Amino acid sequence: MTKPRIYLSSPHMGGEELNYIHDAFEKNWIAPLGDNVNGFEEDLQRYTGREHAAVVTSGTAAVHLALMLCGVETGDEVICQSFTFAATANPIRYQGATPVFIDSEPETWNMDPELLEAAIDDRMKNWKKPKAIVVVHLYGMPAKIERILEIGEKYDIPVIEDAAEALGSSIDGRRCGTFGKLSVLSFNGNKIITTSGGGALLSDDEKLIKKARFLATQARDDAPHYQHSELGYNYRMSNIVAGIGRGQMKVLEERVEARRANHYFYFEELNGEWLECGIQNSEFRIQNSSKSGIYFLKEPENYKSNRWLTTVLVNPKETGGVTREDIRQALEEQNIESRPLWKPMHLQPLYEDAPHYGNGVSDALFEYGLCLPSGSNMTDYDRERVVSAIKKILNR
Ligand SMILES: *Cc1c(COP(=O)(O)O)cnc(C)c1O
Repeated sequence: MTKPRIYLSSPHMGGEELNYIHDAFEKNWIAPLGDNVNGFEEDLQRYTGREHAAVVTSGTAAVHLALMLCGVETGDEVICQSFTFAATANPIRYQGATPVFIDSEPETWNMDPELLEAAIDDRMKNWKKPKAIVVVHLYGMPAKIERILEIGEKYDIPVIEDAAEALGSSIDGRRCGTFGKLSVLSFNGNKIITTSGGGALLSDDEKLIKKARFLATQARDDAPHYQHSELGYNYRMSNIVAGIGRGQMKVLEERVEARRANHYFYFEELNGEWLECGIQNSEFRIQNSSKSGIYFLKEPENYKSNRWLTTVLVNPKETGGVTREDIRQALEEQNIESRPLWKPMHLQPLYEDAPHYGNGVSDALFEYGLCLPSGSNMTDYDRERVVSAIKKILNR
């Protein structure tokens, strides 16, 4: 008999979600407004420390709204991290604008500030100033956001923070979701907390969030009849879905700690090595001779990652030829889901023609990297199954 499937990251309810949903039914607020919507927004403000939040149908919708609020239009260019999920970049195209992709630095795997500055200079020389910078905290690891904000300020370009994977992460105690002009969160089914589907847009500027709510509810002018002067969207979160979010907020801290514990478990059990700056120019560089050939990304000083997904880099030169794809297949044979790291946007057929400022780092991460099952609801037995399948193939 096949063993039950272990997923990469599956929903993990806390128990109070249904109370909020019952409440919505009792009050008959089965609509994209109501107590749960307001309550969830307040919870997010309180948790992150941001002044204002608007909950919407998805993280993708929140990115789209953020771009609109930065005035991105047809013909504009927007700087975007290349190493990310397509939902970070696609809304740039929704606006008829062109993404300009920036590669990663090796310490956090996020947007390289030096390449960012070089790219801005180059775009301004050859074309025009980019309208916005979209930076991501991938897999929960905070980007070098302070440096990126400085560059944004220097050139007067707004920074949009895609914190879809980083709720619960922080730098020096300051939470992801509070950096830049606008921040994006996601509550998709695979994220650290989920509402089945959903997202949020956060800012300290009340006017921006008010405008986001307006655009997200069909941009209705103030009139007794339906009057529209601007193009609107139907992006507001339902009061039912927001009820799930309120319940999930109660257990967020526990979820972060459980995911971090998974990460340390894998590190110990697989004889991991911390990788600090081991990737350069598409090459996998080793600082120490490794015990296992399995590398984990270290948190830079004062950085806290929620370790949304545990990622490993597999160096075939040290594993006796075993690649990340061999490990993925060995896990699949045991009915365990794992997945290569995100394929960078500059390698995607969809974005073949988009400008790209590269250094080979994200190419190497895609080639050598694997995401391991990381759900906060994994049992000890689940985690044992994962490591024993990996150990088996490594010793073969
Ligand atoms: C999940 C995700 C999104 C999009 O969020 P959805 O709620 O799925 O639309 C955007 N950016 C990143 C980095 C993500 O991981």
